[in-house]
Amino acid sequence: MASCRFCGATLHQTFVDLGMSPLCESYVSRDQLNQMEPFYPLHVYVCGECFLVQLEAYVSDEHIFSEYAYFSSYSDSWVEHCRVYTERMVERFDLGPRDHVVELASNDGYLLQHFVAKGIPVLGIEPAANIAEVAVRKGIPTLVKFFGENVARELVAEGMKADLLAGNNVLAQVSDLNDFVKGMKILLKPQGTITLEFPHLMRLMAENQFDTIYHEHFSYFSFTTVVKIFAAHGLTAFDVEELPTHGGSLRFYARHAEDASKPVGERVRELLAREASAGFKGLECYASFDEQVKETKRKLLAFLIKAKREGKSIAGYGAPGKGNTLLNFCGIRTDFLDYTVDRNPYKQGKFLPGTHIPIFAPDKIRETKPDYVLILPWNLKTEIKEQVSYIRDWGGRFVVPIPEVEVDS
Ligand SMILES: [Zn+2]
Repeated sequence: MASCRFCGATLHQTFVDLGMSPLCESYVSRDQLNQMEPFYPLHVYVCGECFLVQLEAYVSDEHIFSEYAYFSSYSDSWVEHCRVYTERMVERFDLGPRDHVVELASNDGYLLQHFVAKGIPVLGIEPAANIAEVAVRKGIPTLVKFFGENVARELVAEGMKADLLAGNNVLAQVSDLNDFVKGMKILLKPQGTITLEFPHLMRLMAENQFDTIYHEHFSYFSFTTVVKIFAAHGLTAFDVEELPTHGGSLRFYARHAEDASKPVGERVRELLAREASAGFKGLECYASFDEQVKETKRKLLAFLIKAKREGKSIAGYGAPGKGNTLLNFCGIRTDFLDYTVDRNPYKQGKFLPGTHIPIFAPDKIRETKPDYVLILPWNLKTEIKEQVSYIRDWGGRFVVPIPEVEVDS
């Protein structure tokens, strides 16, 4: 039996079992179509001791990140989110040319570019070499490494310490959580600030976002559990913000436990109290999620079966990781979805893992005029509906699968 990645307790309680699924970022090229494809369990547990919701790391971080296909800069709203973040951090923590901003999993430099533009020294740490290369070409110094205690010690030995240590959507993808947080403790200046953004488990459950579960996401965090993990490594949460990104994320602010210059704010106490009253410190609250997810699958299939019986054509929009969890769990292939489209040229011409649905450039929608467009990255539904609003010219309608199937009138 597996044990908890934070506290080591044996894991007994199922959170949700999504069956067997391929790695959701392993897009299939045409010459791989007839080859065998590895599938791994997507069986998520919740720890009965610390309530960390987690998936066993069936594949190593190295395998996942060696050629990760996700480029952060492909969503307009995300780019804007990062610009606003930069403005606010520079102002709040008075950052300038003598400070250092370090980002963990810095991707293609989508965030650090805003600090560079303000003349603030930065360092990105990014394990995927092909993505780090894009950042370096943009003039963003990037170290191709997996962050943890050892890398933090090497950087400190070279005289590097962080005034602002940022990590967006990386904490979930770290298999050795304790090593990663220990590294943050080492790399942070005595009065420095850590900010992390990650999807909020409370929102995942309330809004049925089970498709954000995939093999590359090892952990799913409540605020309560993250505060506990950081406290175990001498780091104190002093503020938290609830953000609309990725279906509802937290921006978590931490500092050294010894740093008295930043008092713990009211929002920390309020959110801890809210999670406690919602039952996040007891197993019952987690146990009903599995059935909720199965019912969502039945409703989505009922819609798709009805549409196909009426002779309608259905195309997808987007090829995000979450789409792959949804399609594989629900068993939706080209029998329902003719194709999907994505703005990311890296994915175009490839096929979705498992379901082998072909991925085209967005223009394909204009050419084929589908009756329905199923929006897979539902967190971007507003911007996608604007970008693809022309489907209304031929009476096309948008379908959003989560929290439950919803068709535009
Ligand atoms: Zn635990």
